[in-house]
Amino acid sequence: MSDNRKYNDVQVLIVGAGPAGLAAAIQLKVQKPDMQVCVIEKGPAPGNHNLSGAVLEAQPMHILLDSAVPGWQQSDEAKDVLARKIDKDEVMFFLGKTLSFNIISIIKLAKRLGLAFGQMIHHGDYVVSISKLTKWLALIAKKLGAEILTGFAAEDIILDESSGAVKAVKLVDQGLDKEGHKQPNYVEGEIIKADFIMLAEGCDGLLTEKFIEKAGLKRQSPQLYSVGVKEIIKVSSDQYAKFGDGRVIHAMGYPIWTPAVGPGMFGGGIAYPVAEDHIAVGMIVGADWKYCNFNPQDALTLFKNHSFIKQFVDGGTVVEAGAKMIPEGGYYAVPRDPQTGAIGKANCMVLGDAAGFVNMLKIKGLHNAIDSGMLAAKAVVENLDKPKKAATRYTELVNASNIDVEMKSAKNFRHAVAKFGPLQGMPLSVFGSLLPKFKVEKDFEAMTVARYRLKPKQNFDKDTFTAMAATEHREEQPSHLQILNTDICEQKCAHKFDMPCITFCPAGVYEMVHGQLKPANPSNCLHCKTCQRKCPFDNIRWTVPEGAGGPRYRQM
Ligand code: SF4
Ligand code: SF4
Repeated sequence: MSDNRKYNDVQVLIVGAGPAGLAAAIQLKVQKPDMQVCVIEKGPAPGNHNLSGAVLEAQPMHILLDSAVPGWQQSDEAKDVLARKIDKDEVMFFLGKTLSFNIISIIKLAKRLGLAFGQMIHHGDYVVSISKLTKWLALIAKKLGAEILTGFAAEDIILDESSGAVKAVKLVDQGLDKEGHKQPNYVEGEIIKADFIMLAEGCDGLLTEKFIEKAGLKRQSPQLYSVGVKEIIKVSSDQYAKFGDGRVIHAMGYPIWTPAVGPGMFGGGIAYPVAEDHIAVGMIVGADWKYCNFNPQDALTLFKNHSFIKQFVDGGTVVEAGAKMIPEGGYYAVPRDPQTGAIGKANCMVLGDAAGFVNMLKIKGLHNAIDSGMLAAKAVVENLDKPKKAATRYTELVNASNIDVEMKSAKNFRHAVAKFGPLQGMPLSVFGSLLPKFKVEKDFEAMTVARYRLKPKQNFDKDTFTAMAATEHREEQPSHLQILNTDICEQKCAHKFDMPCITFCPAGVYEMVHGQLKPANPSNCLHCKTCQRKCPFDNIRWTVPEGAGGPRYRQM
């Protein structure tokens, strides 16, 4: 961060070195090799803050790489990242701890009948490590001449009051102590000015949400989230051989949903191969869960102990772990300018997961993220001399693309489930676009005093989980987690809900200290932002810590 290069006044500034931002950077350098493209990333290295399922529908990436790297298929990185093409696709329904039914034939039938559910087929896609994919894309972008600055965390976005265009982004101040006093190593966060800005921070990006507020963008419906927790487990060669190289398992039902008798949460478990003798298992749960004592990690434990999954991972060693939110609100939750419908404003565009381009019927968003990056690059190239037209052009391109087709086809699915629960909501969503738009509440409003009755007796080992995410922050800095009003914690939340943040935070950040609830271990934070969206009193704000803090995922 201390070099003297002139990165503080650039042509295109991309916030976030994930698949969307890097696709944009690559495409810009392909189209305009002389263009000055700067990508800032809060993680210590590309891929460190990227965690996902991740099934990749490869077509947009093929288009991107065909234009950028002749013969890319022959590179070592391509052979490594795309080593696992899916040839066995299972959608399971788990009933209790032992029973399992493969319902993929129902999904295939839905596909033949042209029903929206039929999109949930992954055959022919790739199982990828998004962390490795991102690292590879960053390498390509760099080789093409894009500047990728890691450890650069941005905390504010500065708009021109009169035109509404974005002028600059402000980086986080470095070198403050816990009380906010300047230390000898204090460096004020720089201001980076740019002609074009792309917000590609991923789910629930802090700068994106500030931009939405400052620029007056609106969502037709609140963004809904899910929380994913994931472990990569080193298993025996026999277990891995039994699982297979090209197999993906998506499971619904136990332990988060059982028809009629409950529990009643949306989501499910996943199991994918990620490397030789390594299987990733994860649990993704809609953040509109109602149980105040629920923790997705408990559901992950139960999932791993289901007899169908246990045969593959029992006795294995967790080598990496992490947590992340996914934007599930779909079409109605995409932030748009109320006047123009633009997904952004003037010279600023919102890309990928930051915009919410996840297709919940496919349970995939990576392909849309890459596509949106390429479209944003095209909008910039077409408007070099009129930056304020970029966001409207970008939106025209998105509206004419496959992203829009997919987002519209899935637009009522998650809302129907949020409104009516999985039992009625999922069958109802078969009627897809014929359904009206349902009014849904924000995730935190769904919390009730109900208890998750399958909770394991033993507390989940969050310390080991956090260690496996290799998360760290400089200890001597102000806490980036703010509780707005601790009286609410003690006088309302403790009595009614028993302080759920202590339970659901996957890193054990929140604790009672001398009788007061505190974010006692901010340096353990995994940047999943669950607390900001699931505190039942909307009483937590996640702010940005100094750059280079947070998890260090390698294979996620
Ligand atoms: Fe409850 Fe939120 Fe306070 Fe935690 S921060 S105790 S969830 S009100
Ligand atoms: Fe996630 Fe919040 Fe816990 Fe950090 S403190 S790990 S953002 S829930």
